[in-house]
Order: sequence, then C-alpha cells, then structure tokens
Amino acid sequence: MYRYRCAQCRTTSPTVRTRHEAENEGALHRDRAHAGHIPDGEEIQTHTPPPRPGQPTRPLHYIAYAALAAVLALALWARLTA
Ligand SMILES: [Zn+2]
Repeated sequence: MYRYRCAQCRTTSPTVRTRHEAENEGALHRDRAHAGHIPDGEEIQTHTPPPRPGQPTRPLHYIAYAALAAVLALALWARLTA
C-alpha cells in the first residue's frame, strides 16, 4: 500500500495499492496545487493499514504458542495437585 505525501501542503493522498497509483496522485496534486512544479519534500510512502475490526493484531502463531503454554501450565498444575 502506498500514498503520496506533500510536505509543503502538509497533506497525504488516500492509500492506494500500487506505487504507480501513488505517483499518479502526486502528479495530480502537483498540477492542481503547485501549477505543475515539484514541491520540496514530496514523497511516496509505504503504508500498512491498521487491522480491521475482528482481524487479529498478532500473527496467529503467537496465539497458538500462548494456547500451548496454557495447556502445559494446566497439565503441570494438575500433576502437582494430584
Ligand atoms: Zn502540495
């Protein structure tokens, strides 16, 4: 995911899927806001969107490791208290 950032205007384009689309956003912005001139500090940023609701914030293998640790702790507790 990419987005165009103009440091002069302190504005950022919507997030797009390809670098080429972000470059097109930059070209449109230059034409509209800067009469075709290239503003200092413009850049194409890579952007990782925040997780959507319901999407796990950690990779699934972390959840699997946590579940395994809980099972082992319960087994140890059951053996110690039996
Ligand atoms: Zn600008």
